[in-house]
Amino acid sequence: ATPTALMVGTGRGAQLGILIKGPEVLESTRRVDTVVLDKTGTVTTGRMTLRDVVTAPGTAETELLRLAGALEHASEHPIARAIADGAEERTGPLPSPESFENVAGLGVQGVVDGHAVLVGREKLLADWAIELPDGLAAAKAAAEAEGRTAVVVAWDGAARGVLTVADAVKDTSAAAVAELRRLGLTPILLTGDNRAVAESVARETGIDQVIAEVLPQDKADVVRRLQDEGRTVAMVGDGVNDAAALATADLGLAMGTGTDAAIEAGDLTLVRGDLRAAADAIRLSRRTLGIIK
Ligand code: ADP
Ligand code: MG
Repeated sequence: ATPTALMVGTGRGAQLGILIKGPEVLESTRRVDTVVLDKTGTVTTGRMTLRDVVTAPGTAETELLRLAGALEHASEHPIARAIADGAEERTGPLPSPESFENVAGLGVQGVVDGHAVLVGREKLLADWAIELPDGLAAAKAAAEAEGRTAVVVAWDGAARGVLTVADAVKDTSAAAVAELRRLGLTPILLTGDNRAVAESVARETGIDQVIAEVLPQDKADVVRRLQDEGRTVAMVGDGVNDAAALATADLGLAMGTGTDAAIEAGDLTLVRGDLRAAADAIRLSRRTLGIIK
């Protein structure tokens, strides 16, 4: 394509709500055949709300909410916000944690009211040799089968409960996936969340390939593996945990509603956070390059 055509394409992109880092970006989209979609905040709204609270025998619901809520209050993760807001609504003002640490892709840990508290995936508890009793494991499995994310809470060396949060699929996501398929692209859902939740989102949006339970630092490796299979990969993401994968992909598309880290790592930004703009971007680049009319 001529430089002029590329400039026109870039300008047309802006009208469609697609910010393109440079005209050369359009060139790199031409061979894209696979689109990897982050789940939380990309295919789903990322606005989660607290649903069920399940406690182990001997644990009070208010204490569970207070300790978990206090710790999550210090985190910016969408799951953390849902838990902190829900806990505050249900139990009142939360204490400030004495210490707090974010464990990427696993959860949070810290000290609240003198208790060593963990909130996150079962793996986070396993790292501290804390087992989930059968009752809580069953509650977690039941919630996940319904497509909710279940987070486990432990303190002072024992699992105390399960909190479930749920997020909604964006109402434009299924149409966007259908549009990507019409362009001949293979959509793949990639997430750190558990397989049951991921599969429920995939079913709802018409995606049939799911790569779940991937740690943030491993998302870029998944992209590299797909490239090693000979695919040309576009990655769409919104989070700090997607930045490396966005940079690794042949084409990185950042949600404009996402984090600065994602926007900086991407080649283009979907300003309105509407996944349909991903299909628009690929169509635009093909038109600009004269592949389709
Ligand atoms: P995604 O890849 O879908 O954007 P993340 O990599 O951010 O998700 O998180 C993966 C999983 O780790 C979450 O689904 C959740 O189970 C757990 N997790 C991460 N951060 C937190 C937190 N602050 N509180 C509880 N659980 C968390
Ligand atoms: Mg995300």
